[in-house]
Amino acid sequence: MIKDIATPIRTQEIMAKHGLTVKKSLGQNFLIDPNILRKIVGQADLTKQSAAIEIGPGIGALTEHLARSAGKVLAFEIDQRLLPVLDDTLSPYDNISIIHSDILKADVAAAIAKELEGYDDIMVVANLPYYVTTPIIMKLLLEKLPIRGLVVMLQKEVAERITAKPGTKAYGSLSIAIQYYTEAEMALTVPKSVFMPQPNVDSAVIRMTKRTTPQVEVIDEDFFFKVTRGSFVQRRKTILNNLQAAMPDGKEKKELILKALEDAGIDPTRRGETLSIKEFGGLADELYKHFG
Ligand code: SAM
Repeated sequence: MIKDIATPIRTQEIMAKHGLTVKKSLGQNFLIDPNILRKIVGQADLTKQSAAIEIGPGIGALTEHLARSAGKVLAFEIDQRLLPVLDDTLSPYDNISIIHSDILKADVAAAIAKELEGYDDIMVVANLPYYVTTPIIMKLLLEKLPIRGLVVMLQKEVAERITAKPGTKAYGSLSIAIQYYTEAEMALTVPKSVFMPQPNVDSAVIRMTKRTTPQVEVIDEDFFFKVTRGSFVQRRKTILNNLQAAMPDGKEKKELILKALEDAGIDPTRRGETLSIKEFGGLADELYKHFG
């Protein structure tokens, strides 16, 4: 049995051997608890017929657990200093490819085609760098990659916003953007003690399973997202007030906004946070007739 990377002692040994210090600016908080890693990987339902994509392998703590559960692992790491470390720590495994790249700039579709050929079941599994969680998740969803879903660790507060249901304080345009493409659920809350160094914020793991078709069919996706974002700009204001500010010449065209709300069956005095994604879809399509 190979020794786990994710223990406090082994992590310290690896860092000392390679003269490595953590870069806080890159969100480097390494996992040092094998139990939490088993739980994260368990959420991804991997088999040897699956492939896993990891963002930010660090010194390889999660990567090796993925390599044991999946047929192949493809990992993207931005920090050049970690490449020789990973070469060393992951040497017992022959099913891992590491790409030195900023995930936000990487051609992930091309990397999948090249490195994960023959794998029909692909999951993203990652302990994300917290300074950039939302752009990474949105990139992976918007690029319409051939993935089943994502299991990711991120700040608890962002996890709550992503998985929030209508009528709650955390529900907003981020919940809608992600739940439009995926079924998103909270999987685990994670204590700070499993990281080295410990982050300043609480953490959670969420699971996002991609929908075969978006949750609601809309005429124009960009316009739909413009309406949802605009509806939450001033959370305490009514949907009518927010839309007047968000739509072009909305102040003068109040009557058209009222008509769209009425045709979509939405009371203009409601607040954005009470509308379901389906209601936003209907409303966006009505507004599109006048403002699209
Ligand atoms: N997976 C390791 C673990 O769980 O111990 C490390 C996770 S650490 C929270 C985040 C990792 O993402 C770091 O290794 C960091 O260098 C890397 N990273 C930060 N920004 C990145 C980016 N834009 N693209 C790829 N990797 C990035």
